[in-house]
Amino acid sequence: MILHAPSLSPPRGRFAPSPTGRLHLGNAFAFLAAWLSIRRQGGRMVLRIEDIDPDRSRPEFVRAAMEDLAWLGLDWDEGPLEHPDGEIRGPRAEQPATFRETGLFGPYIQSLRLKRYEEILTGLRERGLVYPCYCTRKELRMLASAPHIGDEGAPYPGTCRTLSDNRQKELEQSGRRPCLRLNTEAAARQLNGGADTSLVLDFVDGVLGEQRFTMDDCGGDFALRRSDGVFAYQLAVTADDADMGITEVVRGDDLLLSTPRQLLLFRLLGATPPRYAHVPLLHDAAGERLAKRHKSLEIAALRHAGARPREVLARLGELAGCLDRPPEPTESRAALLARMAAGFSLGRLKGRVLKLETDDADTLTAAGPP
Ligand code: GLU
Ligand code: ZN
Repeated sequence: MILHAPSLSPPRGRFAPSPTGRLHLGNAFAFLAAWLSIRRQGGRMVLRIEDIDPDRSRPEFVRAAMEDLAWLGLDWDEGPLEHPDGEIRGPRAEQPATFRETGLFGPYIQSLRLKRYEEILTGLRERGLVYPCYCTRKELRMLASAPHIGDEGAPYPGTCRTLSDNRQKELEQSGRRPCLRLNTEAAARQLNGGADTSLVLDFVDGVLGEQRFTMDDCGGDFALRRSDGVFAYQLAVTADDADMGITEVVRGDDLLLSTPRQLLLFRLLGATPPRYAHVPLLHDAAGERLAKRHKSLEIAALRHAGARPREVLARLGELAGCLDRPPEPTESRAALLARMAAGFSLGRLKGRVLKLETDDADTLTAAGPP
């Protein structure tokens, strides 16, 4: 485990796209906020590919995310780079990596980090903090994905925490494969050094201010590994943020309830957690949060229809409230980004409603394809 000293080294942020689809304006907004915040502080940006779920990740989306970020001018200092022959493979562990990486904390692709997740899981198991759960619920399929608002479901009631060995054997013999959960009560006892099972996870969010949660607020005993052996998002993301020395996580506020779970894992690993900032999500003109079905608001779609990065950035900067005046006709993308970084503040995003106009895609692509 790498224990970093944030005060001695430059801040480290990250882009953590899941290659399950193309980036849309909403993803771009969160990435832009993460990038502006880090660049403003003179820090370093890491690109990490969150392809832990082999069923949902596709290699072509790794490349697509890199292309979209690069087109916007959101660069990174560490992580995968495009391979000279243009091919990036990865999302399945058995595939050889054919991309190049830069940085000392790699691999930066989750499907290449499975050994590390196994090692952490084993450590937690040996401390008696993990138990098998045989419940079959639809939500268990989702465990490798970041749980965005709406897919959290009811908190896990703790059913399997006290299963007897015999009952576990019976269930195994009947062919049931368990997922593995963190016993948050046992974790609390270890952290509190006694019988005390109370656990409060609090932190100061860079956008939202003081936050305070119990584990019940965020789903109770959460899964570390799915029943099909795929590691859960919470485990992978915490391991990576710790190992990669990330000091600042800026992401959509639909992930707010993941943060206490990740903080708990940080405490169990004895590692220093990053600062967290949860930015508001972008909504379409009808008030719906941007999602995969908003095809015309994908960065690639805008690009193909003739949008230029400067105008897209300016629109996002306007929404973020970090642009005092529109871009000059001669202002470069880099100059515009520098101006946005100078005016950017995470705190100013608090309570901001980020809503696009019906004609945003048309306005951005007005010039048509080049
Ligand atoms: N890969 C996650 C997602 O696309 C983001 C995880 C995070 O920022 O912690 O939703
Ligand atoms: Zn269970």
